[in-house]
Amino acid sequence: MTRPLVANIDIAAMQHNLSVVRNTVPRAKTWAVVKANAYGHGLERSVRAFSDADGFALIEIESAIHLREMGWKKPILLLEGFFYAHELPILARYNIAFAVHCDEQIEMLEKSHLEMPVDVHLKMNTGMNRLGFLPSEYGNALKRLKQIPNVRDISYMTHFANSETKDHPALSVEEQLRRFDSATQGLKGDRNLSNSGAILLHPDIRTDWVRPGIMLYGGSPGGKTAAEYGLKPAMTLKSEIIQIQHIREGESIGYGSIFTATSPMTIGVVACGYADGYPRMAPEGTPVIVDGIRTRLVGRVSMDMITVDLTPVANAHVGSEVTLWGNDLPIDEVAEAAGTVGYELMCALSLRPRIVECW
Ligand SMILES: *Cc1c(COP(=O)(O)O)cnc(C)c1O
Repeated sequence: MTRPLVANIDIAAMQHNLSVVRNTVPRAKTWAVVKANAYGHGLERSVRAFSDADGFALIEIESAIHLREMGWKKPILLLEGFFYAHELPILARYNIAFAVHCDEQIEMLEKSHLEMPVDVHLKMNTGMNRLGFLPSEYGNALKRLKQIPNVRDISYMTHFANSETKDHPALSVEEQLRRFDSATQGLKGDRNLSNSGAILLHPDIRTDWVRPGIMLYGGSPGGKTAAEYGLKPAMTLKSEIIQIQHIREGESIGYGSIFTATSPMTIGVVACGYADGYPRMAPEGTPVIVDGIRTRLVGRVSMDMITVDLTPVANAHVGSEVTLWGNDLPIDEVAEAAGTVGYELMCALSLRPRIVECW
């Protein structure tokens, strides 16, 4: 017997979502962002799904090497750059490009005496104040990079803080672009700018490369729903009812007894809990689908189980199919109910659910 919890990964949906990127920004080349195990969907699977992408971008150097070992010949980019000087010869050998965001990295490059060429993406801090050189520091950083033997192509990169909003009052995409454009004016080399939010809400940004992540997996970066953007969910998490409880008025359910029935009710126990990646903070009312009927979570999420209200599901039984998110129940809706984002739910999928692929 196997536990009924299954994460269905839909490769065709991932391919479809990549085509949405292509159609939205037809002139840009695409870095498919596959960090964090392809947002929980599996690195190897993403290589098959996104074989048409122009490159893969990620954070983890081990995974970047794994991509090369799997035979990926097109570009690879480390979005957070490198951390230690000893990584540089490895990056050169595997032809893995990387972001450069601080003086310390440039110093390591200057001292490294690279024997093979590397491609770098010089990152500008245009207001997000996370990684990158300020516009005022950018020219000097570029000059130093250009003097380093074996630094080959230099691209220009920044990241938007509020791309899912049209006109953010604190820091708009337009303002970040204005800073970026004025500091890179006239420079030769590729520009590498837009994440999913910028692709979908600001498709007219002039950029040579885009960096979609969440939209490739069928999640919305914000603004509209994923379906409204024409995206298809890549991950559907399903389980089954493993016991039914008929409780009386005044009885409570689960740890902490945080839910008490105000009338007699039928409760379904579902084999999925926070050790599987279901968010422990999901409150009463978080949507769940049982046998195709939408209902709600009640009681506290425990490590291996949740409990759901079966009042609207007259024929529910042990073995009834339960959808936690995915097809018919957008992950973004579940995330919002739990006070988080679809990104976190995808990445938090644990090793415990069985993975099944479909095309
Ligand atoms: C994760 C990441 C992306 C992808 O962002 P999405 O919102 O998932 O599209 C793009 N660029 C950088 C630098 C990132 O770290």
